[in-house]
Amino acid sequence: MSQRPTRILILGGGFGGVYTALTLERLLKREIRRGEVELGLVSRENYMVFQPMLPEVISGSIGILDTITPIRRLCPNTNLYTRTVESIDLDHRSVSAAAGFGSRQCRLHYDHLVLALGNVTSFAGQPGLAEYALPFKYLGDALALRNRIIQTLEEADIEQDPEIRRALLTFVVAGGGFSGVEAVAELNDFVRAAARSFRNVDAREIRVILVHGGGVVLPELPASLGTFAQDILMKRGVEIRFNTRLAGATGDAALLHDGGRIATRTLVSTVPSGPNPLVAMLPLKMERGRVVVDETLAVPDHPGVWAVGDCAAIRDATTGEPCPPTAQHATREAQCVARNIVATLRGAPRRAFAFTALGKMGALGRRSAVAEVFGLKISGFLAWWLWRTIYLMKLPGLDRKIRVATDWTLDLILPPDIVQLETRRALGVRREYFEPGQVIFREGDRGDWLYVVSEGEVEVLRGRDDDAAPLRRLGRGECFGEIALVSDRPRSATVRAVTASNVLAVDREAFQALFATLPPLKSFFESLIATRTR
Ligand SMILES: Cc1cc2nc3c(=O)[nH]c(=O)nc-3n(C[C@H](O)[C@H](O)[C@H](O)COP(=O)(O)OP(=O)(O)OC[C@H]3O[C@@H](n4cnc5c(N)ncnc54)[C@H](O)[C@@H]3O)c2cc1C
Repeated sequence: MSQRPTRILILGGGFGGVYTALTLERLLKREIRRGEVELGLVSRENYMVFQPMLPEVISGSIGILDTITPIRRLCPNTNLYTRTVESIDLDHRSVSAAAGFGSRQCRLHYDHLVLALGNVTSFAGQPGLAEYALPFKYLGDALALRNRIIQTLEEADIEQDPEIRRALLTFVVAGGGFSGVEAVAELNDFVRAAARSFRNVDAREIRVILVHGGGVVLPELPASLGTFAQDILMKRGVEIRFNTRLAGATGDAALLHDGGRIATRTLVSTVPSGPNPLVAMLPLKMERGRVVVDETLAVPDHPGVWAVGDCAAIRDATTGEPCPPTAQHATREAQCVARNIVATLRGAPRRAFAFTALGKMGALGRRSAVAEVFGLKISGFLAWWLWRTIYLMKLPGLDRKIRVATDWTLDLILPPDIVQLETRRALGVRREYFEPGQVIFREGDRGDWLYVVSEGEVEVLRGRDDDAAPLRRLGRGECFGEIALVSDRPRSATVRAVTASNVLAVDREAFQALFATLPPLKSFFESLIATRTR
């Protein structure tokens, strides 16, 4: 080894990144102590999320913080940089990470680089999903979904309009794979149990709908287990729309590819995973946005660069099949890459990655699950018991294991918690999407937002519903909704989308702050209002 320490830098604090660091710490204990090797890990969060248990955060059957483990405790001999990676320079062997509270970017150099940045939720090509669908991948997503469910129950409890009430009490989950099925099972159990605490919500009003592109859910498992899972879900009140795909969303509906729409205020999409944009930008050979690696997990033609987990395209050395994006594979790849980095440092031969998945399991809530373990098909209570035992064993950190076991025990006797944890900051500006014909606001509504058309066309109408007379059409770059904001009176007209329209919405507080402090903006709106009200 050279005089200066050998720098091994890992990007990503998920299963792939953390297990690489853990294994390297163990294999290079002596070298790290002597200062011959420096380990670094860059991740956006200072914790690792144990995704298999994420659906249980929705129902609160395990505590919000119990599915995550602090990386510093897991990897005490690794320098942790809690930063967002902004760029990777393969020629100069360096990585730039975002500035924290300071103003300077953090630049890190490496001799060996492990890419473990996972994939991202991508709603590209499906209008309205980015604005209205809730993703389900990170801890924040599970928390946001739980809050949304409680909020809709709160609103439904006092809502008189039957149409709005129906939309509030309809919950749609898109995607019948593992995360979709597990999420819909937990959501369904939670919303029906929580509804008992709301005086004016009858559990019979609640609809939970799973939209699935195939004919049987859980296509990753044998069809008999998928059928068992869907029968259980349907028995518990989940409606399943088979052979149906989500095509888009508006603020009050899920849009289906067959032209159907489901009025809802809670849409969860577990379907599309896109490549991590940072990884996709690298000048490396890619397969569907994932970095192609050889059988030792090294990136060809780039000595010292390695990739593991969901961001890597890996073929199993024994079967030749592409490895699926699962935590099981990411952890085994991480252990293999760590051994191969050590072998490279010591001039020893590297090993090819080979791993046969031990099985697949999906939890269905209320003491039921499905599993295929060592080729055996198991369903019901035994599968559920296996699911809990195996994942509890796999959950990193003894303290987390104790917390989760306690949560599960208490959950057997205590009612579900319906406290809403509001973590959102007030939004100043947001993007919205409207379908052709969709009303953006009605005459007489309270005016809380100013809108700017960024794409499409909208029409302004005066009068109520069928008698409404068109006043004008507005297109890209034009704004509407300013009169009610400036005059603090209800909306003086109705605005409806003519074509599919994307708009930028600025909330009342942000608008008034700008209006009060920016004189040119104030005079612009005053003359616009004068023209429009003439
Ligand atoms: C709801 C759900 C349930 C699942 N259940 C199971 C299951 O039961 N069994 C199973 O085997 N698999 C399951 N999976 C899949 C499994 O979680 C993934 O395959 C696994 O997490 C992949 O690990 P990874 O390290 O490659 O990526 P990830 O775990 O996604 O980690 C990527 C890391 O990189 C960080 N990162 C990304 N971009 C940047 C950036 N620019 N700067 C800094 N940091 C960045 C992220 O914050 C994250 O820490 C589930 C997934 C989900 C979403």
